[in-house]
Amino acid sequence: MAAGQRLRAVLDVALRVPPVFIIDAVVNSRQDAAAGYPSLLGQLVLRLLGVLASAVVLVLSRRALFKFYTITTALVIAATSVLMNYYTTLHINLNSPSGLVDLPSSGSSLWMPLIVLQLIFGIGFITLLEIHSVFSHLIIVNMLVPAVGSIIELPPEVQEGLVIVSGIVLASYTTVCLSLRFKWFYYCTKYTFLLMKHMYQVYGLRVMLEDAWKIIHFSDVLRVFWLSRLAAQAVFLVYMVRLSNAGEASYFMQWSDFWELVCHLLISGCDSTLTVLGMSAVISSIAHYLGLGILAFIGSTEEEDKRLGFVAPVLFFILALQTGLSGLKPEERLIRLCRNMCLLLTAILHFIHGMTDPVLMSLSASHVSSFRRHFPVLLISTFLFVLPILLSCILWHYYALNTWLFAVSAFCVELCLKVIVSLTVYTLFMIDGHYSVVWEKLDDYVYYVRSTGSIIEFIFGVIMFGNGAYTMMFESGSKIRACMMCLHAYFNIYLQAKNGWKTFINRRTAVKKINSLPEVEVSENNEIDDVCAICYQEFRTSARVTPCHHYFHALCLRKWLYIQDTCPMCHQKVYIDDESKETASSSNNNVLVVPNEEPLQDLVDGEPERELDGHDLSEDESTEEEEEEWTTEQHRSTSEDEFLHDLDGLRD
Ligand SMILES: [Zn+2]
Ligand SMILES: [Zn+2]
Repeated sequence: MAAGQRLRAVLDVALRVPPVFIIDAVVNSRQDAAAGYPSLLGQLVLRLLGVLASAVVLVLSRRALFKFYTITTALVIAATSVLMNYYTTLHINLNSPSGLVDLPSSGSSLWMPLIVLQLIFGIGFITLLEIHSVFSHLIIVNMLVPAVGSIIELPPEVQEGLVIVSGIVLASYTTVCLSLRFKWFYYCTKYTFLLMKHMYQVYGLRVMLEDAWKIIHFSDVLRVFWLSRLAAQAVFLVYMVRLSNAGEASYFMQWSDFWELVCHLLISGCDSTLTVLGMSAVISSIAHYLGLGILAFIGSTEEEDKRLGFVAPVLFFILALQTGLSGLKPEERLIRLCRNMCLLLTAILHFIHGMTDPVLMSLSASHVSSFRRHFPVLLISTFLFVLPILLSCILWHYYALNTWLFAVSAFCVELCLKVIVSLTVYTLFMIDGHYSVVWEKLDDYVYYVRSTGSIIEFIFGVIMFGNGAYTMMFESGSKIRACMMCLHAYFNIYLQAKNGWKTFINRRTAVKKINSLPEVEVSENNEIDDVCAICYQEFRTSARVTPCHHYFHALCLRKWLYIQDTCPMCHQKVYIDDESKETASSSNNNVLVVPNEEPLQDLVDGEPERELDGHDLSEDESTEEEEEEWTTEQHRSTSEDEFLHDLDGLRD
């Protein structure tokens, strides 16, 4: 069952490749400029029709595709049969001793294979067209008649007449058959069209295109197309080289010849938009397996990171469009292709860094000390650091500075800096894991290193934008480049700045919120009989109390508040406002039991609350939070009552 499915899928892909070849051939064919105007118009119409028909075949559903090919094969068989009959009648005298007129062969035994062949054609024809009526036998007889006529030596005019009549009968029968099938084709096409329309209306254009792309296995089709085209060209070129080097004894090709061959193949591998698409499809599978390999090597299970097989080809294709790759002269095309590949390589390295970074962080933060886990990630990181340096050294050695070299170098430097940032943070966490003492400043250091990295990335984004603008003004200003510039400005500059700012604000408010919470000092006579619910460590120096009476380390709670606004234990708002007031009394899970009541009583009586007052009103700058605070202010008294009431309940 599975094998059958697989075979059908392979056939599905294989049968869609010929239309792509036809489109490619039509697009690449040169128009004969010397011909007159009507001839040019005719050619144009013919080309358009060819592309259109091929495109329709390409997007047929699997069933319709198979049907299309069976009918085409049947037509080819019918045509061959008629031509063969014609040829036999005109050129072969089956009963003459020498047999053939042109071909040297013994003739009298020739009629047997001819009859068998025609019989096979006939059976094939009726099987493919699925003719079950009584006509099927008549059709076979009809195909055999001219051959029989030759064998029994009818006069030549009668033989010719028989061939013509047989051909006409076959043609008209086929036409009738096809017109009966036409209805089926019409409904099939209509069904596909309606399905597409429905998809478009319900899910939108993107999903519809994606779905169509998947259903017809378009990337596989493109891959097969590109690779088989390349293979055919390679065989042809190797043959030509052999022919020109016929005198040489060496069996293997010369190195220079081989190099030339590869260059030639690469140049013709991207000579039209279609072939560039095919190349992208091939790059896609290479990148996909590269990505999977690296993920397996570093032991990551992120589903998100499997997108390399999508990102790399899209980038390649956009770069090709942006630089007008397929329209360039052959020599320039090769250079441009190499340049694009360099840019693509740096982009892929950036992506790989994006894959290794989270693994590096989780390894260092979770204090896993297994060398086997750390080694692959560190190896990849080293690789990511060394490779860009090597690449830019080589390029600077061979090329003079231009916008392309500038872009590649900037990408390389940026990548190196990003790797350094990752490794620094990794080292900080590892040092923290090595010493068992809580390192209060760690979080700040990590933040400083990371924000330095983000600022550098932002600066590079701006520099790249400037480089792009320069290229657009003085070198090549295509529309696609302009679009890409806009995308770059949005993703690498605007979003980057926005996220950085958001992180900054989050940190500031988190620090502020922590400072607003009451603090309990741990001393000799006041021990807190609980652990912090975030890190499961005891309270050694002090603890912060949330309005819901949960105790945490200030540092732990701060890290939590960067991510979200609620208590990790009971998901109530950590910040004191109406909501927390209403729900506070209901919370009783893991509520701290304080053995010594005196200090806590102190705390409730005012000190920290007043501290909170002063702190908030003096330091807060954002109006939104100011409003929040004013409402808090109004409810302060009731909130305090609740707090006291809760404590009373605890004491009982
Ligand atoms: Zn803690
Ligand atoms: Zn809580």
